[in-house]
Amino acid sequence: MRFDIITIFPDFFTGPLEHGILGRAIEAGLVQVKAHNLRDFTDDRHQTVDDRPFGGGEGMVLTAEPLFRAVESLGIAPKASRDQAREQVILLSAQGRRFSQSWARSLTGVERITLLCGRYEGVDERVSELLADEELSIGDYVLSGGELAAAVVVDALTRLVPGALGNAESSRNESFAASGADAAGQDTGILDCPQYTRPSTFRGHTAPAVLQSGNQRQIRQWRREQALAKTRRNRPDLLAHAALTEADRKFLQEMDEPPERETP
Ligand code: SAM
Repeated sequence: MRFDIITIFPDFFTGPLEHGILGRAIEAGLVQVKAHNLRDFTDDRHQTVDDRPFGGGEGMVLTAEPLFRAVESLGIAPKASRDQAREQVILLSAQGRRFSQSWARSLTGVERITLLCGRYEGVDERVSELLADEELSIGDYVLSGGELAAAVVVDALTRLVPGALGNAESSRNESFAASGADAAGQDTGILDCPQYTRPSTFRGHTAPAVLQSGNQRQIRQWRREQALAKTRRNRPDLLAHAALTEADRKFLQEMDEPPERETP
């Protein structure tokens, strides 16, 4: 999988790409990431990439031409004839469709992804209309630029590249890691379960005994139930689309209506 990132701050990526899973995946040649300086695709002395917005208003807008030139220089096909199963151009934007694990999974077969980082007040809309296949937002907040969002996308996708994680199981058991999305395109996964490690008792708080029992069946059940409980507490919206078993539903129902105690 190859990522090309178009940005006015190519050095921004030096740190995030060097560490941990991402750093190792790059070193092993599982993914390639290259940041390109948008200013290299201008032809004026000041390497201008922005201009004032039509209609007036605050700030500046990234112009379309350098972004088009940058993408074209990479040999990416024009949008009309692009094979999106093989290559995609993604514009990072607060106005985009919200990124999710199921979206990340759907991109795993794409060989080449070009990420366009906006700045200032945003990007000339013709980039979204004529150059990008998708506008992608990493969440409902406004960042100063698309670079952090691009790094998030590269990281989330790299984790899904076979061989990038030391233990293949870890991405299967993570938050949102169910079979995919439902008919409405919503993730069917729930959150991961809470994790504990040594010491068994920390400042008077003891890790759940079941995790130290060695009973794998009970541990599996505890983990599933705690994952459901945590999802209900922190992300109840996920439960509406989650792939739940009968036992899951029963557990959640009992959380809502604890079984009545027998009177002595
Ligand atoms: N005026 C724009 C708006 O309100 O939608 C915000 C522009 S923002 C200050 C500058 C750039 O940061 C955007 O062009 C985009 O590339 C990036 N950006 C900001 N928030 C983002 C988000 N939630 N997800 C992805 N990219 C984002």
